[in-house]
Amino acid sequence: MSHRTFTITHENLLDVLTNTIAVGNRLVAPVRRGKKLFFRDVQEVQSIVFDFIQSDESPKDLVFPRVEPMLAHEYNAGNVYLIDFAEKLQPLPTILFGTRPCDAVALSLLIEFFNEGVGDPFVEQRAENLTIISIACTRADSYCFCTSVGVSPNDSRGSDVLLTPIDNDQYYGIVLTEKGNAFVKKGGDNFIPSEPKDVAQYIVTLREEFTPQEITQRLANAFNHPLWMDASLRCIGCGTCTYVCPLCSCFDIQDEGTQTKGVRLRCWDSCGFSLFTLHTSGHNPRHIQSERWRQRVMHKFSYIPQNRNLLGCVGCGRCSRLCPADMNLKEHLCTITKEMTEVKADR
Ligand code: SF4
Ligand code: SF4
Repeated sequence: MSHRTFTITHENLLDVLTNTIAVGNRLVAPVRRGKKLFFRDVQEVQSIVFDFIQSDESPKDLVFPRVEPMLAHEYNAGNVYLIDFAEKLQPLPTILFGTRPCDAVALSLLIEFFNEGVGDPFVEQRAENLTIISIACTRADSYCFCTSVGVSPNDSRGSDVLLTPIDNDQYYGIVLTEKGNAFVKKGGDNFIPSEPKDVAQYIVTLREEFTPQEITQRLANAFNHPLWMDASLRCIGCGTCTYVCPLCSCFDIQDEGTQTKGVRLRCWDSCGFSLFTLHTSGHNPRHIQSERWRQRVMHKFSYIPQNRNLLGCVGCGRCSRLCPADMNLKEHLCTITKEMTEVKADR
């Protein structure tokens, strides 16, 4: 479809969102819980937070929940009964409002990843029912580095509609997909058709610290470099970086129950956990934290690029903002690309 452009006032946008809930959609948007900002179901649009740099958690659990029942089984009087939760899933049409462009890019890559090969009926069904309305970034902080990993503060990939705050409490919007078109159509006269505008002056400028190619090239022979030990000494293996990352997708399958009844769960997991690679023999191929930190960085910036020709990071900065040990991924990547010119040969 050709892209349509419009403007809308803040007040009218709130009316459109109110109506979205009234007609039975699920609206998920950034809201405050104490000092933290999360994506949560919204009933009152006044609770939506517009003025923020980045939420504390990503919205990835909308398609990939942290705990998901996949299968239930019961053995009764000689019969085995199975419930396949993928067949019972009936996701409500959901509007995800107020994502930053980096999160929309990440969600599209996450969905693509789960739907490769045999596909994933859980993620697929939720993604089909999801419409993403993003707002371009007018501010950034020192943790943001989207432009260094091939993303931009007004990246339109993954969004169905991209809004940019402009003057006079208005937004300039671009409709990017059929789902976006349906959202705007339902908003009727609240959306005022507009000529395409250059809104670059409203978008934050973020310095490119390194390029994706520089990182992957430097990491190609860095497996045994001492930097992993130096950089990870204060990592406590809590897994926060993985849980808040919009692109981390590792999970564990667990069976819980008794001999006759049980449920199979899919749960988020983290390569930062010491148990992540523990074998039943007791052997752990990544037995110290520096090996786990190396895996996290290598996976995102070397292995995924080799296998899928993209990075496993959109530069949202959450892993560093939220790390209790003040590990800073952007600084670490700067060290790798700028100071570690000696990272050439395996030792
Ligand atoms: S959040 Fe920080 S301390 Fe926790 S596992 Fe990640 S890097 Fe280590
Ligand atoms: S690795 Fe860190 S900066 Fe990159 S997408 Fe994940 S949370 Fe964001």
